[in-house]
Amino acid sequence: MDGLNLNFGLGGGSEPEVETVLNDAPRPEVENVIIIGSGPAGWSAGIYTGRANLRPLLITGNELGGQVAITNEVENYPGFPEGLTGPELAEKMQAQAQKFGTAVEIDYVTEIDVAGPPFGVKTASGKHYRANALIVATGASPRKLGVPGEERLTGRGVSYCATCDGFFFRGKELVVVGGGDSALEEALFLTRFATKIRVIHRRAQLRAGATLKRRAESNPRIEFVWNSVVTRIDGENKVESVTLKNTATGAVSELRTDGVFIYVGHLPNNQFFQGKLAMDELGYLITDKLMRTSVPGIFAAGEIQDHRFRQVATSVGQGVAAAMETEKYLAELEDRAYPGHTAYIEPLRRFVSRF
Ligand SMILES: Cc1cc2nc3c(=O)[nH]c(=O)nc-3n(C[C@H](O)[C@H](O)[C@H](O)COP(=O)(O)OP(=O)(O)OC[C@H]3O[C@@H](n4cnc5c(N)ncnc54)[C@H](O)[C@@H]3O)c2cc1C
Repeated sequence: MDGLNLNFGLGGGSEPEVETVLNDAPRPEVENVIIIGSGPAGWSAGIYTGRANLRPLLITGNELGGQVAITNEVENYPGFPEGLTGPELAEKMQAQAQKFGTAVEIDYVTEIDVAGPPFGVKTASGKHYRANALIVATGASPRKLGVPGEERLTGRGVSYCATCDGFFFRGKELVVVGGGDSALEEALFLTRFATKIRVIHRRAQLRAGATLKRRAESNPRIEFVWNSVVTRIDGENKVESVTLKNTATGAVSELRTDGVFIYVGHLPNNQFFQGKLAMDELGYLITDKLMRTSVPGIFAAGEIQDHRFRQVATSVGQGVAAAMETEKYLAELEDRAYPGHTAYIEPLRRFVSRF
């Protein structure tokens, strides 16, 4: 499809086993619900709205399967005691959503019109949809360093998630890049597995909060490399070393390591709803417990509204909740009796106005 750069995952490199497009039945002029995003939150919303006979339409975005599809191995998703690869898990979720009637469009949303219902959705391929409800599940992306070797070795020692991958580095030596709260939290978590963790920070002091700083500085497994940036990551089939440049002196050095964990920020995929849906100061959508955004009828789930937990299981749970609430919203829309129209919008507006 024009302008689309599809990513079927780096881990297994295999094509999805299921049909990726299942749109043979004619679509209604106004869809019941459009799900935006094909990560765990999107697929789980598809499974639930599909099983509720809502005939959902899911628009995948450029990364089919979402972040999990670039994960080598997932060991912490319940139900799979042996673990499975990220692409496998993503394919299973897709197959299950399609089995229950989720139509899949491989396309990218460029614009939404929130003056609804029905809401308008425009895509990169020039399609224009209308839907009575939207579930936004566009996720987030870890900010990359953008250095040589980073992309090639992602899943082979380069990671953006200690909770996910730390377990694979028992008895190893690691590098953590960053100096904020996330970097230190993850470095501390990694001390459970790795024997030595070197935190590489571009400045001479940390940005992280005092308690975390104290804990990290007093941990014998953590060492700090100040005034330094990673300029490349090397290794044949897995990470073997990083090249460092001292930001004060310009000196270049090489550091042997088994893995590189990168925490230089996390970016919500929020481009097309800027100024249309309420966001927090970091750009994540603000939702209430029922996954409702600031516009009635538009729900959000997964990492686009959650920068705290950032797991497959939590994103799936939020996708399920958004789907169940969407079903309720649509059922009540007909007679405009949906209590949410007035009950939650004022407190949410007051909350949003604090930012
Ligand atoms: C390297 C790595 C390893 C990980 N390992 C684990 C693990 O072992 N266990 C675990 O629990 N979690 C792991 N995680 C975290 C987990 O992958 C995420 O928490 C989860 O994928 C978030 O799901 P999501 O559906 O909210 O969003 P995402 O997975 O980010 O998916 C977002 C989707 O939205 C789509 N999209 C974006 N913009 C648009 C648009 N404009 N139009 C249409 N679609 C759009 C994208 O194409 C994508 O399909 C890992 C993450 C990474 C990066």
